[in-house]
Amino acid sequence: MIQYQKKNVTVFQSSLYMTTSAVIETDEAVIMTDPNWLPVEVDGIQKYVESILGSKQLYIIYTHNDYDHIIGAGAFQNAIVIASEAFAHYPDKEKIVQQNRDFDEARYLERNYEHIYPKVDVVVTHDEQKLEIGEVTLTFYLSPGHTDDGIFTVVEPYGVFLSGDYLSDVEFPFITGSYRDYVRTIQKAEMTFDRFDIQLHVPGHGRTTEDEREMDSRLDFSKHYLEQLPKEDDGLKAHMQEKFTFFNFMSGVHDDNKKVAQRELEK
Ligand SMILES: [Zn+2]
Repeated sequence: MIQYQKKNVTVFQSSLYMTTSAVIETDEAVIMTDPNWLPVEVDGIQKYVESILGSKQLYIIYTHNDYDHIIGAGAFQNAIVIASEAFAHYPDKEKIVQQNRDFDEARYLERNYEHIYPKVDVVVTHDEQKLEIGEVTLTFYLSPGHTDDGIFTVVEPYGVFLSGDYLSDVEFPFITGSYRDYVRTIQKAEMTFDRFDIQLHVPGHGRTTEDEREMDSRLDFSKHYLEQLPKEDDGLKAHMQEKFTFFNFMSGVHDDNKKVAQRELEK
């Protein structure tokens, strides 16, 4: 399913968890994020990419290595892979590949490719690292907190911000990495909005937006959430119940987040 299409940007949305794959066509390349989830969806993305690729080079940015974000990797083995150093040197790659196999097995899903852990060609080691591809410049930031291995990407001159699993409109922050890292990463996101003329925000789950007020509101909510999290949060929980359609499913994550934050702040 295509969630957003305008000019050279197409965003696919999976039926599962509103997970997105952004495809950006430039003069010399096609740049994509996290192809996912279901076989028919990955197949559709693959066909679309093939239809526009011609002699251009395909780049895939893996925003982080949660298994749902690399589930389509095996279908795009000719791509140049961009990801963080922590992604590239992740110690338990086989575990993530196995999670993908288990996901398929439990649902009787067959694919026309084998699951792989992507081999990284362009390793992002520091903030503001740049990659120029013809007239396009990608600027990367390390974004730990949700996981340890995230990256943000800004695509210029289009003003596209690819935030991975941060700043979603359908999820509050999921902190499986570190609370302090998460706080710093959100500060980095704010700086990114200040520094670049962001015209389009594509979150890893949720809706793509061109609306500046919506981008601000996503940022403000994350800041508010992180600030409130270590405190007593009956109000916060009630607010989220209203705000997020799928909150009941996620409420356990909120309780875990709180433990993580409190534990870190005690130190
Ligand atoms: Zn995710």
